[in-house]
Amino acid sequence: MEYKNKTVLITGASRGIGRAIALAFGKAGASVVVNYRSKKSEALEVVQAIKDAGGNAIAFQADVSDFEAAEQLVKATIEQFGTIDVLVNNSGITRDQLMMRMAEADFDDVISVNLKGAWNMVKHSCRLMLKQKHGRIINISSVVGLIGNPGQANYVASKAAIHGLTKSWAKEFGKKNVTVNAVAPGFIETEMTDSLPQALKDNYLAQIPLNRLGQVEDIADVVLFLASAKASYITGQVISVNGGMV
Ligand code: NAD
Repeated sequence: MEYKNKTVLITGASRGIGRAIALAFGKAGASVVVNYRSKKSEALEVVQAIKDAGGNAIAFQADVSDFEAAEQLVKATIEQFGTIDVLVNNSGITRDQLMMRMAEADFDDVISVNLKGAWNMVKHSCRLMLKQKHGRIINISSVVGLIGNPGQANYVASKAAIHGLTKSWAKEFGKKNVTVNAVAPGFIETEMTDSLPQALKDNYLAQIPLNRLGQVEDIADVVLFLASAKASYITGQVISVNGGMV
């Protein structure tokens, strides 16, 4: 797939799934904006890896849950590369806790990054995409947004709501050739999942017909497809990438 002369903005791209998506777009020739919240050196390492592969990239710090910071991120992308062709809302956090013990802040923090963060980014970039009559918005949700999960009511609510935003934006933006889809990963090996107890990981593995945990590239491949011309008639969908878990 060819992304020369395409600008791709990826939130939370300094590590994990976002990093893999950034590297894949960079290697495919896109101009990539690597957003990060706090890990500047990791973001710069991603930028360097893209440059080493012959691509073009910049890093830009912004907390996507902050309305003004998200606006600055969009503005910086347009100033640097002239447009945004693809927006990948990847930033996400967990604050897992059983409901009895979940603090109000655990709910608010997760909703403001995972849900409001995506809303902020689309709020600030949709006018441009609608005006230029093309754009691809890809939201990274989660398998648990489809099936629920004990101890993750806050996270599940944020991801299920992302599916609602995806379907609503797809209906709103379709006439202007802007597609909106979600990718719902299953259990992917990243720092987010590293800290889970081994017994829990074994339990997930037992539920995965393909008998392996997912890799970040499994998600990046599907994101690149959805952003490509080959996916121009796909919008409003939640694409599950979970090894058959659901
Ligand atoms: P990760 O923790 O490795 O990466 C998350 C990224 O989001 C980090 O770079 C982090 O800095 C960034 N981020 C967090 N808060 C931010 C903020 N306020 N502003 C900007 N960036 C912020 O996690 P990951 O596993 O790579 O997850 C990436 C996405 O995939 C998340 O949305 C996550 O919910 C989703 N997901 C992951 C899995 C999995 O198994 N790893 C499964 C389903 C869904």
